[in-house]
Amino acid sequence: MRERVSKAGSVCEKARTERGLGAVARQQRGSSKQGRGASGSSDRREGRRPGGGGIGSSRDSSRGSEKSGRITGVPVEAGQSVELSIVGLTHEGEGVGRVEGYTLFVRGALPGDRVRAEVASIGKSFGRARMTELLSASEDRRAAPCPIYDSCGGCQLQHWDYAAQLRWKRQHVADSLARIGKLPVAPFEASASAADGSAAVGGDATAAASERAPIVVHPVIGMEEPWRYRNKAQVPIGSSIAGGLLIGGFFEQGSHDIVDMDACLIQQEPNEETVRAVKETARSLGYSSYDRETGRGLLRHVVVRHAAATGERMVVLVTNGRDLPHEDELVALIRERVPGVASVCQNVNTARTPVVFGDETRVLWGNDVIYDDIGGIRFAISARSFFQVNPTQTERLYRAAVEYAALTGEETVVDAYCGIGTITLFLAKHARRVYGVEIVPEAIEDARRNAALNGIANAEFAVGAAEDILPRWQAAGVSPDVIVVDPPRKGCDPRLLDTMLQLRPQRIVYVSCNPSTLARDLRVLEDGGYRTIEAQPVDMFPHTVHVECCSLLVRKD
Ligand code: SAH
Repeated sequence: MRERVSKAGSVCEKARTERGLGAVARQQRGSSKQGRGASGSSDRREGRRPGGGGIGSSRDSSRGSEKSGRITGVPVEAGQSVELSIVGLTHEGEGVGRVEGYTLFVRGALPGDRVRAEVASIGKSFGRARMTELLSASEDRRAAPCPIYDSCGGCQLQHWDYAAQLRWKRQHVADSLARIGKLPVAPFEASASAADGSAAVGGDATAAASERAPIVVHPVIGMEEPWRYRNKAQVPIGSSIAGGLLIGGFFEQGSHDIVDMDACLIQQEPNEETVRAVKETARSLGYSSYDRETGRGLLRHVVVRHAAATGERMVVLVTNGRDLPHEDELVALIRERVPGVASVCQNVNTARTPVVFGDETRVLWGNDVIYDDIGGIRFAISARSFFQVNPTQTERLYRAAVEYAALTGEETVVDAYCGIGTITLFLAKHARRVYGVEIVPEAIEDARRNAALNGIANAEFAVGAAEDILPRWQAAGVSPDVIVVDPPRKGCDPRLLDTMLQLRPQRIVYVSCNPSTLARDLRVLEDGGYRTIEAQPVDMFPHTVHVECCSLLVRKD
């Protein structure tokens, strides 16, 4: 089964074309095909990492890379074997080492390792090498518990002690703020501890804003048990090379083949069980699998969700066309084999694209949504709506956002990029009025439904681009005391930042899944009269390189 799609999705759900049970950032650990490594479909959709381009950026390699031969001034050549001490990790999870001052990135190598590696490609300012031997291991190196870790690539840091992962993520946020945002960051010793899972709002925020205290980057709020956290699996379907059996799992590293997979250690177990049951059912009904090369075949993806709070499960079969043979039997078998199933849907996607969902979703049986609770608020989640994938950490992230908003019940609050109204409804309980804006119409339908479901009457929602809607609200006289933003990886649109500066809210709470664009946007807001007081990273995606971060900005005057 050959797949034509780019290998790099993102584990961050804000990039909605991820693949595989682990739903993942495929980074081709150990592969030399780096140009596409960490960008992939989400970047294609959203533009390539604006504000990124720090060490580990794929841009330099695509400009200056030489697969063979020598570059003047570069002390190594492709094919050469070198020994390296690994001194850092890029934001894509590659080890960083140096030979005579020249930087090499080595997949799979960790800070503290000493490795032998073969130079794979060289550019003017850095190159890439493949680890051939681990000469001595960092004391934080662990055996990755997942048996398919090397071929999958969904996780990048399973072979690193969890505490070391969290330390690195904090450092990564701090480094991004300093390097990209040119912002002063407090030394870690001086930072308040958030190891108890709470976000500590440091001191008098307004005083800190006027005297330019350095930004406090708190320790990352990690998980006590950093496994089995994902509430959603998106599994590409294909067929086995030998025998043509319908399989589903993930795209193998460095190739376009689908590998069958029934277990993923970061998935909630009910999702594994559901995927297994759906694959078995599809096989027993003789469904064909979609062939990305020819565009033929029926089943493209199986997407499943599990709502931990209610036990409800959703099954979505993404098919290449409307026609679904044996529909009644399919539904009967899924109901029999999947405990707690509350919704069985078909999504039709006939486009030759790596994007998972098509536009049309049809309920085959049950509800069009499943319900989950976060922090005592109930959410209806439909097949295509964005919903954070790690419920334990989501609650902690939202609590940090609410705490930073410092609401007394009198405020007007705007929540930009609001999805199904999750943060909006968290805030609504503490504010006079909240406004949520989101570009996906179905998500706003869910948001309105969720407000009603929770008896929340002071929330108003609008469909559209935040950069278009905020100026309209401004013209209509909406004057927010607090603006919360939670944009996709590409960060906030410049027009939105501009409108925010004109609206002059007392506080801005910036929730980000990409430290690079966060740092870029904070710089703009700082130049426009705000001070970043503190940042609270939250580990939403243990064992991956991703880190979510909630930051507080306060107006200077
Ligand atoms: N705050 C929500 C959703 C965050 S994900 C939560 O925590 O659940 C980011 C959201 O921004 C997605 O739902 C995406 O559809 C939406 N989005 C992307 N571009 C947008 C834009 N220009 N204006 C408004 N919303 C946008």
